[in-house]
Amino acid sequence: MLAIRSTNKAYRFRKINSDFEDNSLISGISQHHSFIRCNADAPSTSFKEHPMEFLNITSLLCLYAEVFGADLLRYVVGAGGVYVVVNLGLAARLARQKIRASGPVSGQIFRELMASLRTVAIFAAVGTLIGLGSRAGVIEIYDEIADYGFAYFAASIIVLIVAHDAWFYWSHRLLHHRALFRRLHKLHHRSHNPTPFTSYSFDVGEAVVNAVFLPLALLLLPAHPVALFVFVTHMILRNALGHCGIEVFPVRSNGKPLIGWLTSVTHHDLHHSQGRWNMGLYFTWWDRWMGTEHPDYHERFAAVAPRVSTAKFRIAALSFIVMAGLLAGRADAFELNGRYATPGLGAIIAFDTCANDPNIICARLAWAWEPEDMKGARVGDVLAEELTFDGTAWTGAMLSPENGWRFRGTLEEASPGALAVRGCAGPICVRQTWYSVGALRHILRE
Ligand SMILES: [Zn+2]
Ligand SMILES: [Zn+2]
Repeated sequence: MLAIRSTNKAYRFRKINSDFEDNSLISGISQHHSFIRCNADAPSTSFKEHPMEFLNITSLLCLYAEVFGADLLRYVVGAGGVYVVVNLGLAARLARQKIRASGPVSGQIFRELMASLRTVAIFAAVGTLIGLGSRAGVIEIYDEIADYGFAYFAASIIVLIVAHDAWFYWSHRLLHHRALFRRLHKLHHRSHNPTPFTSYSFDVGEAVVNAVFLPLALLLLPAHPVALFVFVTHMILRNALGHCGIEVFPVRSNGKPLIGWLTSVTHHDLHHSQGRWNMGLYFTWWDRWMGTEHPDYHERFAAVAPRVSTAKFRIAALSFIVMAGLLAGRADAFELNGRYATPGLGAIIAFDTCANDPNIICARLAWAWEPEDMKGARVGDVLAEELTFDGTAWTGAMLSPENGWRFRGTLEEASPGALAVRGCAGPICVRQTWYSVGALRHILRE
């Protein structure tokens, strides 16, 4: 529901490039919400000072158009992708896994596409509110993963998904109440035999109920744009898969789902055939706890689900965990990027991957309070060419911009957003704390 610039990697590099282009802390602050390109048109004033200027129409329209484009693209790629791959490309191969013999009725997909277009327009309006909330400082979308650390980043994605599942279950139960169903949820259930395009086929009220989860969650939970990107991508993919009518989740040889706590395609397909059961979205927990899981769910699931050997699955799961662990370690290692301020705000040092080797980090003098006091380097000069990660700290030869001394430096994360820097030039050793520009922004905003 939000305009996200691009993939993690592309986002990071774009962010770093913009860091090098602008050397002032103040313009850095105004660029805080730079994940939205329309910020070029955004008013520079604060919401409290000039609310009308803040709500300038060009900037709002630009923001809405951008969020609409991103939401539409996600629906087309997510729902369309599942349809093309599962329902068309693999249809013959997965024929045994088809849940019902019949297909959608004529005209259904067209109706779903039209309703989905309206849903995208509503999601984009709520996404625009998120963008405005972020500009006004009510919602916190932070730029640097290092601001809160990688553990928070990963946990924020899990919390968003688990909280959304609870929101969906309870709002969905409410939508099935006799007083609300006809007005708010009937259209979704007109797709008695759903397709991936059913995933956004909502009445206006249902679209609003679904959309408001994210801004409400973001009022409580600061989030990184990449975490939001993962959340919404997972949302559309699980949603489209749940409506595709072909079971893709595997079953064990004993007939039980391989991952019993994830909702399968059969799980939601049963909801479309018998609306009083299976209200959950991503997880089976709420339906089990509240006694709303379809009594024949496991039997129906086992009849169509692809069988896998549990031993093979364990090996695959183990390899996945090892790979994820390695990647997480690597992600930790890559946290040393962005800009850090030295004590007294004397200088800002920017860390970035080196041009000649993306596995090594380079440091540059990005900004200086008094450039003429920097006897050892000028703004833009490289201070460290080969910082390498040894598992706990970044180490390498560094140049002190103040006096030109060369020393061997060690940089460790002291706390989220703070770097403990130690270095010795001969017998003289220095220990300093450098704060990320992102952390300083938070302090200045308070
Ligand atoms: Zn559905
Ligand atoms: Zn329903």
